[in-house]
Amino acid sequence: MRVVRRGDRGPAVTEIRGILVGLGLIPGAHAASSGSEFESSDFDDATEQAVRAFQQSRGLSVDGAVGAETWRALVAARWRLGSRTLYQAIPEPLIGEDVRTLQERLLEMGYDVGRADSVYGARTAHAVAQFQREVGLAPDGACGPQTMHALRRLGRKVTGGRPQWLRESDAFRHSGPNLVGKTVIVDPGHGGPDPGVVVPEGELRWTEAELAYDMAARLEGRLAAAGMRVHLTRGPAPAGELTDLERAQLANELGGDLFISLHIDGHVNPEADGVATYHYGTDHGAASTVGERLAGLVQREIVVRTGLRNCQTHAKTWELLRLTKMPAVRVEVGYLTSPLDRAKLVDPRFRDQVVEAVVAAVQRMYYPIDQDVPTGSIDVRELRAALAAGAL
Ligand SMILES: [Zn+2]
Repeated sequence: MRVVRRGDRGPAVTEIRGILVGLGLIPGAHAASSGSEFESSDFDDATEQAVRAFQQSRGLSVDGAVGAETWRALVAARWRLGSRTLYQAIPEPLIGEDVRTLQERLLEMGYDVGRADSVYGARTAHAVAQFQREVGLAPDGACGPQTMHALRRLGRKVTGGRPQWLRESDAFRHSGPNLVGKTVIVDPGHGGPDPGVVVPEGELRWTEAELAYDMAARLEGRLAAAGMRVHLTRGPAPAGELTDLERAQLANELGGDLFISLHIDGHVNPEADGVATYHYGTDHGAASTVGERLAGLVQREIVVRTGLRNCQTHAKTWELLRLTKMPAVRVEVGYLTSPLDRAKLVDPRFRDQVVEAVVAAVQRMYYPIDQDVPTGSIDVRELRAALAAGAL
């Protein structure tokens, strides 16, 4: 869809404003929303502020404009748990904030719905049926008024760990320290018609898309040398743009054990610099502990090995992180708009250091926690030698 932003007007803007008013994000307008004279089709300052507040609250990129991802989140946000009956619809599943609330409540109660991804799929229906059976309702897997009543009655009393993430950690611990045969999906950002961050001036003609691909190809080589199966989500010059949704679907189809997306950041302020890593999570506590650990390891290894400024790890609900079924991270390796970072990024030895840092982080993911090693201590060349000697 076309991006809708400040200055635009028309029916799409009316609809966006309607949702934001319903969420109470456009102040003062809520009480008057029934009178049509208050309906505005102008994307004004207040609308942009409301969009920003919405994006912030949902862990989306905050740009104040409504693109495809923000639009889907807005449509989903219309639904409050209890305002409609939820069931497993085929082939188009029900998606919405109400589904996510239900999933998080079930997770807290110990039911296995997988990830709270806002999609009412088979696993959610199964968990609902299990809940229904245990409270004496007909286990039809649909969440209607009776099930809602039972949830309200019990939901608040039972809280515990985050069983799905505990299971995810367990699967990891039991998969052993061996990298051989595990599948990593490496996702170079942007590509094709979308160059990502571009710095038109200066001697550097690299775009973000080219740098991301270069690092992805280096990473592919290193991980493959360590015995892992590696898939890239795109080639050096794809014909079309690949959305984050398509990248996530591809990773799921390929059955990846880990997902690593590589980007370079950009900012209007040339003084912005440093590396940041993102993993799936929300402000209200649902997080992928394995994804969080991978993000922490990647971030620390890169900081220690390259000296890039540490811009920390952050929880986001981006589709790329939310819809991938394996632990997933997105790394923003420095700022192409920073003269400091740019000078490093154009140096192939620096890009090798970044790649070695990611390989070390991946290796540490598969060590049992009690055998973990200090950051910066894994020598990737030794790893390869050991592999060649048959020691791993
Ligand atoms: Zn990017």
